Amino acid sequence: MDKTFYLETFGCQMNVVDSERVVDLLGGIGYRQVAQAQEARLLLLNTCAVRDKAVRKAYGHLGRFKPLKDADPALIIGLGGCVAQQEGEQLLKEFPYLDLVFGTHNVHRLPELVNDVEVRRGKAAAVDFLDRETRLQLFPNRIGSEAVNRFVTVMQGCDNFCSFCVVPIVRGREISRPSGEILSEVRDLAGQGVREITLIGQNVNSYGVGVAGESDFAGLLRQVAAIDGIRRIRFTTSHPKDLSDDLIACFGEIDKLCKHLHLPVQCGSDAILQAMNRGYGRAHYLGLVNRLRAVCPEIRLTTDIIVGFPGEDEADFSDTMTLLEEVRYAEIYSFLFSPRRGTAAAELPDDTPAAVKQERFDRMLALQNEISKDAWARDVGQVREVLVEGESKQGHGQLYGRTTWNRIVNFSGPPELVGQLVPVRVTKSYRNSQLGELVER
Ligand code: SAM
Ligand code: SF4
Repeated sequence: MDKTFYLETFGCQMNVVDSERVVDLLGGIGYRQVAQAQEARLLLLNTCAVRDKAVRKAYGHLGRFKPLKDADPALIIGLGGCVAQQEGEQLLKEFPYLDLVFGTHNVHRLPELVNDVEVRRGKAAAVDFLDRETRLQLFPNRIGSEAVNRFVTVMQGCDNFCSFCVVPIVRGREISRPSGEILSEVRDLAGQGVREITLIGQNVNSYGVGVAGESDFAGLLRQVAAIDGIRRIRFTTSHPKDLSDDLIACFGEIDKLCKHLHLPVQCGSDAILQAMNRGYGRAHYLGLVNRLRAVCPEIRLTTDIIVGFPGEDEADFSDTMTLLEEVRYAEIYSFLFSPRRGTAAAELPDDTPAAVKQERFDRMLALQNEISKDAWARDVGQVREVLVEGESKQGHGQLYGRTTWNRIVNFSGPPELVGQLVPVRVTKSYRNSQLGELVER
């Protein structure tokens, strides 16, 4: 029978990369990816546990697989990622129609688990954490790419234990990938036509810390920038407490480094930042912003904000509002605090009513909407360099690409431009993208 699989991915870039790995591994045992769950023999979800909403979404999607399994008991259903890591084997009991569970350290074992279920018709799970030495052998290293831009993993896990965050619990301790391996992957990708690399990790700024003989993150960036064929470099995520002066200097020095930094602040109040265990205060953060803008005046910043952390009162919240006004981020990604099992903040008393948190959240979005509109409107009438990523789904000779600030621009042009940096005059700015026209060179 035709071996087909369907895969849905939730969550951050780390999960995106893990899913790419899943596609490769399943391809290796003869499985072909399909776009519809109804066409697949193997159904997989790669899940996110960072907020309750994401977990509920994963379970909701899992529930949709049940009628398919009822109709055809030979289907194999699997759940991986951060929810799998946190909940473990008990998911198999909770969802009797689930056949296999694989955690964040066990993506490589998926073929073996699938084979186990196929042969034994039993259930299979792999959710243990692996030791450092084993993990170092298992960094995703994908060969073969038709894309213009790719994620390259430089580190995994996190040791920061921000009091709200489940990541250290579900991804384990921080490890840095050897730089030789990273550079060799980037060289291979460049050879295959990849033009933009995003170096990813939960906390890339602490890359190489405590590893004898390894470069730090700024050193790694300079080495990646020296690779021919790569035209643009991005990185994410940065922790403000580890953003060094040397890394800041890179924004003024490395042409290939995009003039965009995602620098999650989480909130503007010193008391709440301390309760979050973030390791910096408001003044330190604003100092970083000033230094970044001094070395690279065109830089645009984005951030993450949590509203409704336990104990956050109106004065704390107003510190976040004034911070947004002061920094004027191009974009923010904002979340209502969601207590996560096993984290310190989940144990804190929280007497702010949900309606008050929601009202603050909405007020913040209204403020940021104005700031963002203003930030992106500045591009209208200007010629911006766009890295062309592909043809728009709408067709009609439309291409799309991104500016250095990671903004999508749609414009008309021939498909031969895919993979090239081209000048585009921005003619209109929408909430999430821009429209432009190609400028003759
Ligand atoms: N490592 C990154 C960092 O240090 O910012 C991001 C990790 S997390 C996957 C992405 C964002 O989710 C965080 O920056 C935070 O704003 C948000 N987040 C994490 N835990 C949360 C929680 N319990 N409730 C609400 N938002 C949360
Ligand atoms: Fe979570 Fe903090 Fe680590 Fe980011 S730095 S992954 S927010 S614990």
